[in-house]
Amino acid sequence: MAPQAARDEGMKLLKQRLTGGLLCAALVLSTPAKAGPNPEEYVAQVGKGASIVPWSDLKLDGRKVMCGKRPTVLDNQLDDYGAAYPGFVILNPKLLDRVSTPVKLWIHAHECGHQFRGPDEETADCFAVQRGRRQGWLTADGLEEVCKFIAPAKGDSMHFSGSRRCELMRQCFTDPTIK
Ligand SMILES: [Zn+2]
Repeated sequence: MAPQAARDEGMKLLKQRLTGGLLCAALVLSTPAKAGPNPEEYVAQVGKGASIVPWSDLKLDGRKVMCGKRPTVLDNQLDDYGAAYPGFVILNPKLLDRVSTPVKLWIHAHECGHQFRGPDEETADCFAVQRGRRQGWLTADGLEEVCKFIAPAKGDSMHFSGSRRCELMRQCFTDPTIK
């Protein structure tokens, strides 16, 4: 792809991300792997306040977390808590500071779910809660914290979608078959 075309594609992705709304914009897998910026290009685009954490170095509240061998970009200017780009996860440390440990870990696992399961929100939610259960960082109480977190204060349709997602996550959490 010509540099200009690549840049246009990057801007398109950025726009999709910005209109993605609550948790989160997954730009994964619906586009060919080469369509989006790589972590270095992303950081260069964002500029100040963004950095790359290698796949094996990420810690959230002292707990080591991984998403396969995908790196994480920390971006304090991200318009959401997290996002998924083809090949890497983006987290906003400034926003993550405001939520409890299980919610933090759930956000990371949700974005990671997009890496492996595609753009569907419910599928990423299910991936996240099942991973949390398996790894021992998500209890039924923790899941309720997640539910409070995604039950948004604004907009009826969003509210419905938050509670619906929670219902599905509770089912997923107790489902012994891994989705
Ligand atoms: Zn998502």
